Amino acid sequence: MCGIVGYIGREKKAEKVVIEGLYRLEYRGYDSAGLAYVEDNKIKVVRAKGAVSGLDKKSSNIQPQDLAIGHTRWATHGKPSEENAHPHESFKGELAIVHNGIIENYKHLKELLMDEGYIFNSETDTEVLANWIEHTKLKRDLNLVDAVHEALKFVHGAYAICVVEPSAEMIVCAKKSSPLAVGIGDDSFIIGSDATPIIGRAKEVIYLEDNQIAIVTRDKLQVKDIDNRDTGFFPEKLLLDLQAVEKKGFESFMMKEIHEQPETIADCLRGRLAAAGPEIALGGIEDVMPRLLRAKKITIVSCGTSWHSALIGKYLIESLTRIPVEVDYASEYRYRKPIISNDDVVVGITQSGETADTKAALEMAKGKGALILGVVNVVGSSIARLSNAGIYTHSGTEIGVASTKAFTGQVAAITMLAIKLSHRLGHIDDEKLMDLKDALAIIPDQVQEILDDSAAIESVASIYANYDDFLYLGRGINFPVALEGALKLKEISYIHAEGYPAGEMKHGPIALIDESCPSVFVMPHDDSYEKTVSNLQEIRARSGKVIAVTDKEDKNLTEAADAVIIIPKTEPELTPLLTTIPLQIFSHKIARIRNKDVDKPRNLAKSVTVE
Ligand code: GLU
Repeated sequence: MCGIVGYIGREKKAEKVVIEGLYRLEYRGYDSAGLAYVEDNKIKVVRAKGAVSGLDKKSSNIQPQDLAIGHTRWATHGKPSEENAHPHESFKGELAIVHNGIIENYKHLKELLMDEGYIFNSETDTEVLANWIEHTKLKRDLNLVDAVHEALKFVHGAYAICVVEPSAEMIVCAKKSSPLAVGIGDDSFIIGSDATPIIGRAKEVIYLEDNQIAIVTRDKLQVKDIDNRDTGFFPEKLLLDLQAVEKKGFESFMMKEIHEQPETIADCLRGRLAAAGPEIALGGIEDVMPRLLRAKKITIVSCGTSWHSALIGKYLIESLTRIPVEVDYASEYRYRKPIISNDDVVVGITQSGETADTKAALEMAKGKGALILGVVNVVGSSIARLSNAGIYTHSGTEIGVASTKAFTGQVAAITMLAIKLSHRLGHIDDEKLMDLKDALAIIPDQVQEILDDSAAIESVASIYANYDDFLYLGRGINFPVALEGALKLKEISYIHAEGYPAGEMKHGPIALIDESCPSVFVMPHDDSYEKTVSNLQEIRARSGKVIAVTDKEDKNLTEAADAVIIIPKTEPELTPLLTTIPLQIFSHKIARIRNKDVDKPRNLAKSVTVE
């Protein structure tokens, strides 16, 4: 959830590398920040509530260091405050720690420690962990590495941690269920909760496995397994370049990412459409194709925006393949005792590949014999690794917390999956397949057309920026797009917005309609267009304002709606890839008019690695 950065090396620039890394990671969690270093054999900690810039100011006087660890926090235990910010120093000053995740049995450990005389200065589970490691170290007279190893045996929950001690000889890292990477530079090691702070500072990286401990000194990296045995490590090339995490002249990362979609959707389609013969090539699922084709049921589990792409997947897969599809919130699925058999396929959709709920749901389904497919953006992420097969969305690094390009990447991937299965099962013939492939191939250009017309969409948004309630309505495959449109507005502008199936509107939400609650209709000219027009009239009849997103001029619609946004025409199955775009621009503009920080909306975090 939060961001972790660590530096140890020959050059005295640790505090700079850590602060810069925290800025880069700020999108993951940002209610407070802090760093720890060592001076005169004493651990020093600087912490600040709020954004990294506050910490940056407070630490401007630090003398150049060759070791430091830092953190941006997304509070789970205890409010955002300086006292609760990380790093947390242990009670007797033996160590300081930064932690990403949740220690589930922290209460029990805290009680044990209080019985031993420990006093706590924060409300966090992390301080408990710091003291627990210290207590283990002192009581059993262990070195730091062994103390971490032994202490963690009694810890339940999820963690990525970095620990330092006053001797400043090493950073000890450990992880379980939360990601942690170590970059191997020429004369230094840089640790990150993802690769972002490592980019440009190391060409190689290792991603720690669960239960591993990394001991990082100035000139050596050592990795140990759960039994404290040396395992060695296999560095991977770090492919990301720094440009990928810069704004490139756009006013926000979110806007940059919205504008990258022609390219990112093309990247997702690339090679897969261009395969020889009529097939769509999805190399990552070819080996499991026989099992997929005889699936009795497909369940898609996910959270947030990914849940909306899952719902689009349901509409597409069921209608194109006739295989029943269930869509579940991962956080519900894992606890509701779902019926899972060997004949099932369970698909997890996740941008980061680290979403804790989705991961746990997939692990459970895997344990029950289901075939696991991952639709994931981050290559090599935990969910990519635990899946039997999968499709990468190739959307590139997404920094904006509110997902845009990762969403359209997911939709493109799940659309290709549905079309491929449909063709293999004989539900669509070669000709229909070719039509869909041709239509998919020009989607990036059509997205560009919409983006070229952003100013018109933004001027519609300007008219509605001061309204405090919105309804988003759509039918069929565009109902999830309405949900996603509403979520986007909620996430970045804090305006109350609800998505509903347009036909359901009259069964309740219509009570909200008056001149102060505009409705956004997502209504391409498909089979349900006429019905949606009737719903629109029902809103008009109650003085509701109407903004319509459609794909063809229609005089009646122009007369009935207050604003009409026209997008290019495509096959009905592919419309979500286009109808989504104006809704992204619309919510971005409203949030900017309201002066909100669209890249770092309050209370949210990018990669939700806690349950
Ligand atoms: N549970 C810890 C806290 O509330 C860590 C949260 C995080 O991952 O940022 O401080």
